[in-house]
Amino acid sequence: MSVAPHKDFSRLCIHTITTRPWNIETAARRYAAAGVKGITVWRDALDGRDIKKTGKLLRDEGLDIVSLCRGGFFPDVDKNKRKLAIDDNRKAIEEAAALGTSLIVLVCGASPAQSLEDSRKQIQEGIETVLADASAAGVRLAIEPLHPMYADARSAINTLGQANDMAQAINSPMVGVAVDVYHLWWDPALEQEIKRCGQNDHLFAFHICDWKSPTTDMLLDRGLMGDGCIPIRKIRSWVEATGFNGFNEVEIFSTQYWEEDQSVFLDKITKAYIEHA
Ligand code: ZN
Repeated sequence: MSVAPHKDFSRLCIHTITTRPWNIETAARRYAAAGVKGITVWRDALDGRDIKKTGKLLRDEGLDIVSLCRGGFFPDVDKNKRKLAIDDNRKAIEEAAALGTSLIVLVCGASPAQSLEDSRKQIQEGIETVLADASAAGVRLAIEPLHPMYADARSAINTLGQANDMAQAINSPMVGVAVDVYHLWWDPALEQEIKRCGQNDHLFAFHICDWKSPTTDMLLDRGLMGDGCIPIRKIRSWVEATGFNGFNEVEIFSTQYWEEDQSVFLDKITKAYIEHA
């Protein structure tokens, strides 16, 4: 199955971290001027701001606030630190509600001081602990599986299969998954697991970028669509076959692109979106 290239930017969302040198006000203005319709807000972009007012400013630019990034980081060997993580996730839920978005993406966390199984157990407990707050606020939680290279300290959930298992175990309409091509493109079970997301009606978000070869930094060398080897359009066809009609969210952490003039980079993003996504 294949999908047609995008013809416009009506389903294009950009994460604020993608254009990190810009503050959120500049990012919103520039995205809107380029015809981009969605924005995902990283919490650091809200530092020192009135969150409600910032949400209004984004909406006044005509942007949909797709999600808040990020909650999670539940596991720790230290019980007090796990409690602090719960508090921080409750705060993220409040921030999402104030901002006016109905979704938080969870980078679930892991601790190298304990087994992955223990970390996963703590992740599930963490999500279940904040679930009532999320429901009350009308904010859904998306479990984002991360590439296994981050299994030591960033996420003990590394495949879409594991994320689907956990979402199904929690069994709440407020909990689903985020599919990020950067983390999942290599998985031979990906098509099947995306189908399973659809069957369970819990595919909440779709993130795109590319995998550069070679990758020179494990965190900050993501590619623009077309820079690398991820079959983005093929994966999008699987995602859309589930009925997903949400945003295609461009999420790129790249010291290389952050060094560029961000207006030039934004032009590259919109061009790459049409040509390669
Ligand atoms: Zn992502």
